[in-house]
Amino acid sequence: MGASILRLWMVMFRADVVVIGGGPAGLIAAADASQRGLSVTLIEEDIIFGRPERCAGLYSIRGLEKIGVPLHKSYIQNFIWGGVIHSPGGEVFELSSATPVAVVAAREALDRYLAERAIGSGVDVLLGSRAVSCSVEAGGGGYKVVLNDGGEASAQALVVAEGASATLARRLFSSYSAPYWIPISQLIVKNHGLDRRQAHVWFKNYLKDFFGYLVPINEEIGKLGVAARHDPLAKAHRLLREEIPGSKVIGYSSHSIYRGPPLEVGLDGNILLVGDVAGQVKATTGGGVVVGGLCARAAASHVYSLLKDRRGGVYRRSVSNIYRELKATYLVAKTIYSMSDKAIDALVRAASESGLSKTLALRGDMDFQITGLARSLASYSGLRFLAGLLRSLF
Ligand SMILES: Cc1cc2nc3c(=O)[nH]c(=O)nc-3n(C[C@H](O)[C@H](O)[C@H](O)COP(=O)(O)OP(=O)(O)OC[C@H]3O[C@@H](n4cnc5c(N)ncnc54)[C@H](O)[C@@H]3O)c2cc1C
Repeated sequence: MGASILRLWMVMFRADVVVIGGGPAGLIAAADASQRGLSVTLIEEDIIFGRPERCAGLYSIRGLEKIGVPLHKSYIQNFIWGGVIHSPGGEVFELSSATPVAVVAAREALDRYLAERAIGSGVDVLLGSRAVSCSVEAGGGGYKVVLNDGGEASAQALVVAEGASATLARRLFSSYSAPYWIPISQLIVKNHGLDRRQAHVWFKNYLKDFFGYLVPINEEIGKLGVAARHDPLAKAHRLLREEIPGSKVIGYSSHSIYRGPPLEVGLDGNILLVGDVAGQVKATTGGGVVVGGLCARAAASHVYSLLKDRRGGVYRRSVSNIYRELKATYLVAKTIYSMSDKAIDALVRAASESGLSKTLALRGDMDFQITGLARSLASYSGLRFLAGLLRSLF
């Protein structure tokens, strides 16, 4: 990545756009803005992109296409053809497709791939630098970002993609509030003994905030995660003991996932929020790489229109459909996580008995889940599912 990674002895940077945060959202926004001809500086506090690795890395193939990320062997660990949902009472719903629907990615390698692409398109990168404050420049011509090493960067527009920390977002927007983060623990497990083509999801009476999952990397190794407000690590170990007793833990990471609605702040003007910090995440699964990537592209388009054509409003307009979907996803997630174990059993049983699996394989969408679900329910198996669900509940 040599030439474009600026060293810290260069203390003042000026660009059209400064992007803060080198996760997927920041890297995609930076590359898109640069490809449009804007000068871009990206600031990332870690010294290696994507490290520490804290992601299951499950992304839909269609979603990656939409965010302009081609499938590439450098980051793909596995292909996923479907999933198995386990209810608290042991009901099982299996979803499978005739072709792979998702990839399992090594997240560090994916972020490196995105970083190389951003640098290749002209983005200047400051690695190992933390943005500590942002303010309007004297004279009002732009914005100044102060770095922890005393350096400064200035630009006409800022894209804040700082992920879960949300430190700058809270300072920049007095109305910023996102009480939707949940701690998550992810174990790397060996000898899971499950089919490498299927991801697993478990609802349990002790997992009330979020399901537990296993995403296989191959037939031997997988990523098992549990998000919970209290003791996610202990709960992850319990899930492992109960469901995959012969396996062994060979790695561990912890972080937070977002399980709320998309936020309405940072969608206008010269300071934008993108990715997790903006709540651009599917509340059902905590997955934000594809939807955050779509919003990041919209943010780049907004900045370009604002700086080159003096035309505003592009970001808010472009994400309106995505936001509608994410808000609906949040409502569905809220409903699911407020349901009793018996109701989840009934839901999973009705799905399994109705033949909904085949319809979902054809009409479902991992990223636009509610749109895909609505399309699937408007079918014979969808109606059978609804009728079965009503019968078991009442
Ligand atoms: C255990 C786990 C499993 C997950 N599994 C999936 C999955 O399977 N599929 C999926 O789609 N999503 C998954 N997610 C969610 C996904 O990781 C996030 O949605 C995604 O990383 C969000 O990207 P981002 O660029 O917004 O933020 P991040 O990836 O968090 O990147 C933010 C970056 O900003 C940097 N930064 C922060 N503050 C500053 C600062 N002041 N100055 C400079 N740099 C700063 C950070 O170092 C970081 O690199 C998972 C998350 C976790 C924790």
